[in-house]
Formats: sequence, structure tokens, C-alpha cells
Amino acid sequence: MTSTEHFDVLIIGAGISGIGAAYHLLDQQPTTSFVVLESKDTFGGTWVTHKYPGIRSDSDLYTFGYRFKPWIGAPIASAEEILTYMGEVINENDLDQHIRYHHHISDASWSSEEAQWTVNVTNTATAKTRQFTTNFLWMCQGYYKHDKGYTPDWPGMEEYDGQIVHPQTWPDDIELEGKNVIVIGSGSTAATLVPAIADDCGHVTVLQRSPTYFRAARNAIEIADQLRELDIQEEWIHEIVRRKTLFDQSEFTKLSFAYPDEVKDALINDIRELLPEGYDIETHFTPRYRPWRQRLAFVPNGDLFASISSGKASMVTDEIERFTKKGILTTSGEELSADIVVSATGFHLSVLGNIDFTVDGKVIDFADTVTYRGMMFTGVPNLAWVFGYFRASWTLRVDLMADFMCRMFDHMGSTGATQVVPTLRPEDEHMDLGPWMDPENFNPGYLARSMHLMPKSGDAPRWAHTQDYWTERRELPLVDLSDDGLTFV
Ligand SMILES: Cc1cc2nc3c(=O)[nH]c(=O)nc-3n(C[C@H](O)[C@H](O)[C@H](O)COP(=O)(O)OP(=O)(O)OC[C@H]3O[C@@H](n4cnc5c(N)ncnc54)[C@H](O)[C@@H]3O)c2cc1C
Repeated sequence: MTSTEHFDVLIIGAGISGIGAAYHLLDQQPTTSFVVLESKDTFGGTWVTHKYPGIRSDSDLYTFGYRFKPWIGAPIASAEEILTYMGEVINENDLDQHIRYHHHISDASWSSEEAQWTVNVTNTATAKTRQFTTNFLWMCQGYYKHDKGYTPDWPGMEEYDGQIVHPQTWPDDIELEGKNVIVIGSGSTAATLVPAIADDCGHVTVLQRSPTYFRAARNAIEIADQLRELDIQEEWIHEIVRRKTLFDQSEFTKLSFAYPDEVKDALINDIRELLPEGYDIETHFTPRYRPWRQRLAFVPNGDLFASISSGKASMVTDEIERFTKKGILTTSGEELSADIVVSATGFHLSVLGNIDFTVDGKVIDFADTVTYRGMMFTGVPNLAWVFGYFRASWTLRVDLMADFMCRMFDHMGSTGATQVVPTLRPEDEHMDLGPWMDPENFNPGYLARSMHLMPKSGDAPRWAHTQDYWTERRELPLVDLSDDGLTFV
């Protein structure tokens, strides 16, 4: 084992969160030493893991992009465009020298006596192990396992003669030309994949258990195009479009909570316009849940509906009884045959990167902790996890949290504290605890399957991830750090 290196801060993960954290740390705390440790051989996280045809964002890049670097282009972007943007952030700010690729963190132990974490790292290229120590762990490792997607265990899968693939581990050599394909699931992934492969395939059948809300619109932002015509500088356009997008999203969210039925009707009627007359909207595009209880899937230029209208793709709303030799038998008795089945069925949630954590020798089970503002955890010192928004772009929270963390580091510097740990105050000790996310509020499958592994929430905003960007933007900068459930030592 080589010698141990020490940094003031270790950032774990070089996805959109880790690169954002590195930028802000360098910008706001230039004398703080830090390094980003990333297990892959490159930056990008989600946007390098997913390689299926058509892979693109489902939120607009004006808000998925950082506040400090203008996005110049159509709002919905391909993975490649997002990676180019991130690469520019790295180059323009000389961040490369702070990133170590092939560094996989297996475990981290905190010592209160030394006021530091010791982190064991394996080099994924050489299999060599080494140690780092740090005062603070800024966890940017995302929220799902990158090596394998979630595929349910359906009866008869072993009998099936065709190929079963998951979009998260898309094979390079897959042959789609003329093939009949079933895509299981109708979330964003399916909505992206289907139009991207429909022209090559013989036919694509989308098999969904229940319908999803979609919003289809042109992949353009009118005000951005108008401002560009007027030669307005890109920094201004970025800021104006962000404000407008966030305003519109906030209004839409309020509306969908206040008038769920009306919003539901409006969304469904918009889809009706894009499908042939008489299409069975009731069965295939009328969700059973309230709008915004799951992420709304955006369909740029209505391409999914064009594939359905052209007959290249079709919808089946039914349950899977079992796989057969030729395909899938549904509960209603229909046998769908396919050469390839794509299981667009989501992720395996990963709580803090599946890293083993101990605090003073005691193993940490995050399910036994209560979250401080969806960032930190009771009893776990000097550690924060960037967990973004579901109803707004993830990156908005990367920027906001970075400001909060840097303010907290300043506070520690000025008070001489070396440790910060969320601690329930006497008045908090008897509050009701609930799951990380209220399933009434937001209930995607991957979260529902693994909610029991996640930290708990309390019934006050400081003890929850409120998922409310608009309130956090206002309140986080005003939090009185000396009286908010944080113990500084
Ligand atoms: C297909 C897809 C499309 C999406 N589209 C959007 C969208 O349009 N808008 C939106 O807001 N959100 C979207 N999301 C959610 C998206 O994942 C987040 O917005 C964001 O990309 C997460 O960034 P991150 O950096 O936090 O995590 P990730 O992108 O998951 O990156 C985490 C990084 O940490 C590394 N890592 C993990 N564990 C370890 C370890 N133990 N040691 C070292 N390194 C480690 C990983 O290798 C990875 O590179 C999408 C998700 C998917 C899967």
C-alpha cells in the first residue's frame, strides 16, 4: 500500500454533482485542498453509464446546466452534448488536476479523536489499494448502482429464446435491424429509446403496466431564440431562460397540486392531438396517479407519438404473466412475440455509493439516521450527500448545496470548529419520523423498492429533503448555522 494522502475535502464522484462541487470549492474556498475520486475512467457519471440509442436529458439544460456556465443550444440535450458541456467546465477551470479517475472507494471510517475520515480506495485499473484521509466527505456518488440496472424476476425468463437487455448496460453489438422488440416500461427511458430505434426495427411494442404522463413540445425555448436574434450575451440569456423556466415550473407544480384533475385533462388532451383519431387514449395514456407524483416524461418534438402514429411502435397496457419461448404472455392472455426484450424498468437505488461507513468503530446504517435538510445525517460527522431535485433539475441543488457547504466551512473556520454533526435538539426528539420521501408526494419505483434503506425524515423542513427548490433557494442562504440542529465541535 502506498502512503496516505490528506486533503481538506474529498469529493466522491465526477458526475454533474462532483464537477459542480469541485468548481464551487475552487471558486469559493480557493485555499482548501481537495481531490475528486471517481471509479470510472472518465467524468460524466450518468451520462457515460447510459449508452442506449437516443440517450438524452428529460429536463432542460438551462436549469440542468450550472448557474455559472451558459447553456447554448436546444433545451433537451443528448448525453454527448452534456458531456461536452461538462468537459468545457473542467477545461475552463483547470479542474482536471483535481480529479483522480479509476479510484473506487470501498469504505470510510471516521475518528472523532483525529477529526478526520480515513478512506480506502482501490484503483480499478491496477487493483492496487491506498488510503486517503480528509476532514470532510462531499458525497457526489449519485443515487443508483451504475453497474447494473433493475430487471424484475419474471417467471419463464430462462425459457425465452430471444435477447433480454437493460438500457443501463446496452450492448455495443446489439442487432436491431428488422427485429421485433418489446420495450417493458413507459418512463423517460422508454420514451427516449422507442423513437430512436423504431425506424430500424421491424416493430417496437411498448408494454406498460400502467400509463405515464407525458408532455410533448418543440425542443426549443422561444425566448432564448428571440434573445439570440437580438445579439444578447449568452450569460444574460442563460439567466433569463433559467428564471423563466423555473417560474413556469413553479406555477405548473402549484397548479398540479391545486387542480390535479384539470392538469391531468390538459396533459392528456395535448397527447390526444398527437395521435391518430380514435386512438385509445383512455387505456394507454391516462395515468392512475396524480400529475407530479412521478417525474413527468418530456417528449421533445413529440417523437414518441410520431413513432406510434406511423405504426412503427405500438402500446400494450397489461401485466406480464410470464415469459414464453417466443416472447411475453400477458395477464389478459395475449402472447407478444419478440426477438429482443428491453427491460426499461429502472434502477437499483444505492445509498451513499454502497460504501461501508463507520463512525468511531460503529457501523453506520443510514436507515437509522435522520437527514438534515436532505444533505447530512444525524450522528455522521463531516459528511454531506448531494441529492438533487426530482421535480426540478438535479443540478439546481448542486449549486445551492455548494453555497451552503462553503458557508458552513467558513463558519467552521471562523469559530475554530473541526467537526459538524447534525443532532436532534431536545424539541426535535419526539417529532414523528417518516420515510426519506413521502410516497404520497413522490413515488418512483426505485425509491419505493428501497425506501427502507434510506435515512428518515422528520416533520420539519430542516429534518427533510423537501424537494422544494423554490423555498430552499430562499431559505438555505439564511439558515442560522449556530441554531439549526448542527453541532459544531
Ligand atoms: C437516463 C437518465 C436521464 C436523466 N435525466 C435527467 C434530467 O434530464 N434532469 C435531471 O435533473 N436529472 C436527470 N437524471 C437524474 C440524474 O442521474 C441526475 O440528474 C444527475 O446526473 C446525477 O448526477 P450525480 O453526479 O449526482 O450522480 P451520477 O451521475 O450517478 O454520478 C456519480 C458518479 O460517482 C461515481 N461513484 C459512485 N460510487 C462511487 C464510489 N464508491 N467510488 C468512486 N466513485 C463512485 C460514479 O462512477 C459516477 O461517475 C437522469 C438519470 C438517468 C439515469
